[in-house]
Amino acid sequence: EAKKAGRGEQRVFNDAMNAVAKDALVIDGALRDAIEANEFYLVYQAITNAHTGKLTKVEALLRWNSPLLGPMPPDRFIPVAEDSGMIIALGTWVLEQACRQVGLWKHSVLDDVTISINVSAWQLADPQFVTLVSQALIRNGLSPHQLELELTERVLIEDAANVQTVLAQLRALGVGISLDDFGTGYSSLSYLTQFHLNTLKIDRAFVMDIEHSERSNSLVHAIIAMGHSLGLQLVAEGVETAGQAAILEKMGCHYLQGYHISRPILPDELLHFADGRAAPQAQPDFVI
Ligand code: C2E
Ligand code: MG
Ligand code: MG
Ligand code: MG
Repeated sequence: EAKKAGRGEQRVFNDAMNAVAKDALVIDGALRDAIEANEFYLVYQAITNAHTGKLTKVEALLRWNSPLLGPMPPDRFIPVAEDSGMIIALGTWVLEQACRQVGLWKHSVLDDVTISINVSAWQLADPQFVTLVSQALIRNGLSPHQLELELTERVLIEDAANVQTVLAQLRALGVGISLDDFGTGYSSLSYLTQFHLNTLKIDRAFVMDIEHSERSNSLVHAIIAMGHSLGLQLVAEGVETAGQAAILEKMGCHYLQGYHISRPILPDELLHFADGRAAPQAQPDFVI
């Protein structure tokens, strides 16, 4: 009886905690000092050449372990950081941290790896952004072609004229531009020629069903054909099975990313992975 009551209390407590954690205001408050308190870190997910299997790029993914709220997924806290404008400081931290990491990988097996970083609309609108990027490259001894910025379709429509100018400046620097989650957003095909892109990342939603759905299969096929004819590199996101990897390779997709290759992992683990040892698959990526 007492045990039962205890469990009930526990549940009430958890529900209350969840309600609190759901509150954007609480997340916003907890975010304020989180950079200074060292609560953020980056994990890195391998992107391999579909044909050779060689690790060519890595995507940096932000993790926040809040002492108050516990581990918080980026899908929860990034929108809050965008609303408060804190994404500028946070995005700058990510840029610097990721470039520093690639600098540290120099003269290792990861010597010439390309790093992909997710960038919000707010960051692109910041007049300092191009300067911040070039300073981060210089400070950490990276060549510009080692950096790729991932944008979503939403970013492109928000302030199209300005975005076009900023992307042209970044491309002139030698930095790559990737269109993330392709196919899920507003997907006006005119974006593909209007903006200075080099890479399309095919969203997980299509890759997921490629083995069993004729529709998804045709759609991915069409995206790849279109990418080829526009001279774009193609990355398939969310590749979880060997079957998906084989189909994508056969369709001419250049790069693969997903749990089938590796989960997002810590820098040392990525070094081991690049060195030919298996990536740890045991923990859900969110915990590390
Ligand atoms: P994204 O850029 O599309 O990143 C891919 C997401 O898919 C990541 O989730 C990754 O962990 C997950 N993923 C990778 N492979 C697989 C797979 O095979 N199966 C499944 N089910 N999932 C897979 P994550 O790390 O939770 O990030 C979610 C989103 O948060 C990212 O989507 C990105 O839009 C955003 N994000 C993450 N880090 C940053 C950052 O530093 N800055 C900004 N602005 N956004 C970020
Ligand atoms: Mg991304
Ligand atoms: Mg994506
Ligand atoms: Mg996404």
